[in-house]
Amino acid sequence: MLKIAIQKSGRLYEDSINLLKECGIELNNGNKQLKSGAYNFPLEVYFFRDDDIPQYVQDGVADIGIVGENVLLEKAKDIEQVYRLGFGRCRLSIAVPKNMQYQTIADLNGLKIATAYSSLLQNFLLEKNVDAEIHEISGSVEIAPGIGLADVICDLVSSGSTLFTNGLKEVEVVLRSEAVLAINKSLSEEKKNILSKLLLRINAVKTAKNNKYIILNAPNDQLKNIAAVLPGMKSPTIVPLAEAGWSSVQSVVNENVFWEVIEKLKELGAQGILVVPIEKMIV
Ligand code: ATP
Ligand code: MG
Repeated sequence: MLKIAIQKSGRLYEDSINLLKECGIELNNGNKQLKSGAYNFPLEVYFFRDDDIPQYVQDGVADIGIVGENVLLEKAKDIEQVYRLGFGRCRLSIAVPKNMQYQTIADLNGLKIATAYSSLLQNFLLEKNVDAEIHEISGSVEIAPGIGLADVICDLVSSGSTLFTNGLKEVEVVLRSEAVLAINKSLSEEKKNILSKLLLRINAVKTAKNNKYIILNAPNDQLKNIAAVLPGMKSPTIVPLAEAGWSSVQSVVNENVFWEVIEKLKELGAQGILVVPIEKMIV
């Protein structure tokens, strides 16, 4: 059995459970208990507070864990590998009261910064040559300037709406983060084997999310040009249509270049373009 630690409740819980589900792994019971087995995969799921996950993975209480990179780097544990999962995206940022005249990072010199990420912040300030005082608090960091506890803050941001409602503005990004898979350094061969099966599934789910399947009708005299903008997994599939002079073209397109490719296809006379989500993709 491979033991995986995930957040008991909070922002990463839902996405972590969904990832397992998309990998075809169904849990016996939810997070009401400390742990849960899986029906159809040799996996045991432990539910922990996210702050504890790096330590537990380092100590082998869990073999692997899903945790924000921000937590993992802050705790700086001796953990073998990380694998980016593509959810839980956020920034660790410095934010200042919105009426503060902020021009450069040097404006932070001499200020008091409240944060729950003192180690990451300290490294950042050192690197930027800023001499500020770090005041460590564990929660509700965004209210610190309002109650006179600190001048500015360093906290996690995604949309920025919490900052906005607290009269703060984001001025510096310390770290860009997302959920990662942290892996214990000394897994047995048997566990490594289970892990590689799990990683194959995670990869298939992740790759599928980054790609779309597209089907379109192309005039035959443009087929060469259209095929050139559509790489596909090997090359696009081209099938003649019943209507003379036209073919159906099918291909896989990466999300990063998706709109660019669609624009080119339209310019080349493609019609009836269908875009279909891919459930799993094994390359
Ligand atoms: P726990 O009770 O497990 O200690 P927590 O309150 O410390 O939970 P959450 O707020 O649930 O943590 O956030 C968990 C992780 O979600 C963060 O460490 C971060 O990686 C990620 N995250 C994504 N967006 C945000 C955001 N806007 N604010 C905070 N965390 C975010
Ligand atoms: Mg926490």
